[in-house]
Amino acid sequence: MKEKAFRNNSWVDAHSGKTFDVLNPSTGKVIARVPDQNTDDLLDYIKDADWAFNKWRSLTAENRSNFLKKWFRLIEENKEDLAKLITIENGKPLADARAEVSYSAGYVEWFAEEGRRVYGDIIPSGSTSKRYLVLKQPVGVTGMITPWNFPSAMITRKVAAALAVGCTTIIKPSEETPLSALALCQLAQQAGFPDGVINVLTCSKGNAPAVGGAMCNSPIISKISFTGSTYVGKILIKNSAETVKKLSLELGGNAPFIVFNGADLDLAVKGVIAGKFRCSGQTCISPNRLLVQCEIHDEFVEKLKGAVSKLKLGDGMDSACTQGPLINRASVDKVLEHIKDAVSKGAKIVLGGKSPGQKSNFMEPTILTNVNVNCLCCQDETFGPLVPIVRFIEEDDAILIANQCTSGLASYIFSSDISQIWRVSEKLQTGMVGINDAAISAVQVPFGGVKESGYGREGSKYGVDDYLNIKYLCMGEL
Ligand code: ADP
Repeated sequence: MKEKAFRNNSWVDAHSGKTFDVLNPSTGKVIARVPDQNTDDLLDYIKDADWAFNKWRSLTAENRSNFLKKWFRLIEENKEDLAKLITIENGKPLADARAEVSYSAGYVEWFAEEGRRVYGDIIPSGSTSKRYLVLKQPVGVTGMITPWNFPSAMITRKVAAALAVGCTTIIKPSEETPLSALALCQLAQQAGFPDGVINVLTCSKGNAPAVGGAMCNSPIISKISFTGSTYVGKILIKNSAETVKKLSLELGGNAPFIVFNGADLDLAVKGVIAGKFRCSGQTCISPNRLLVQCEIHDEFVEKLKGAVSKLKLGDGMDSACTQGPLINRASVDKVLEHIKDAVSKGAKIVLGGKSPGQKSNFMEPTILTNVNVNCLCCQDETFGPLVPIVRFIEEDDAILIANQCTSGLASYIFSSDISQIWRVSEKLQTGMVGINDAAISAVQVPFGGVKESGYGREGSKYGVDDYLNIKYLCMGEL
């Protein structure tokens, strides 16, 4: 565990000497104090990352790939320690934290390979005396602003892609979970990355808007990749106008999870447990609204109730626990507000509904039925362990409800009718569709959304595109 920020391969304090506390959401206790850096500190980061860029971009792709492969192996070797850090700063059960570290390492390995396959093009010429060529070049110094729900994987998914193609990186992790970012840097240092290639600036919630604003205003930072709320994503878009900064935005979702008559209900229940209750519902692709067709509604609710009642709340370090705390009390209050609102509009609590104490960060897994589509929990992303169930009659009703929102990240369909699966998948306005499956994330596939869920894709062969400029060369007089 490091309690310093990381710049130019050195462990540094804030210029101001200030620090902020990192809390364990399960106990509320302070687990670390890290530098509370600000825009003055950022200037040094930009200078170092810019200097490093010219050297890093000049290496061969194979050279860069070798650094990434070493980093990958070190992450794998230190999996247990990294998982424990995730659990104490984020709260998720240790088993989930271990899975996150593997997933996180997977991105480093994937982009170590993909970075070697960045091909240009030769375009058939429009003239016998000219030749047209396309080069792909790294965009430059990149800023990464990351969330707390996957403190490790949301960093490697961006950083490994950027590094692989020759960009340098300034990471600003969430104030809730900076320790995983710093631990990744310690391993990057051991892997021997050159100075200034990978850097972590830590700052409190209070300093985040100014630091984010200065990143957007910097003419040297050529790209910002952000994962977080739609609210902050829109601020970044506005702040980036002045420098016409490139952005990749992975913002909030409001995933519909549709269960049709004739679906395998046990499979659908398994899907809800895997998708909704991973990280206690605090993932952007978490099913937010369940739309269940009337014929199978009651049977499905019974089965789901049985499975959800087996979940166990507790401290993530306890091996029996399947549900850790939420990240902070504000998150619990939001879930409670969504429940209260739904109940006031006629919803029925089938299971859960409470938080064990007024200050507790824990929230009971909750199922609501009879939910009206106008409720807050259908309109807004709950980001907690709440399953609101809406009953529908016709397929078209489900599609209409599913698309009636401003976000479009993930959606899920459970059906055994192949024609229906194609029909509905093509009509859903989301960047990703899980079909009879809710575990859709993988390093090989493009992760990202449409509508207000953002733009850009992470992971997969497309993941490097966000860090590359296309340059066209026209050779004349041949
Ligand atoms: P959440 O509400 O889930 O914490 P946020 O979007 O607030 O999500 O946070 C995601 C990341 O954005 C964090 O690293 C946070 O510090 C950062 N952040 C918050 N406000 C701003 C801002 N105004 N500009 C740039 N980054 C910000």
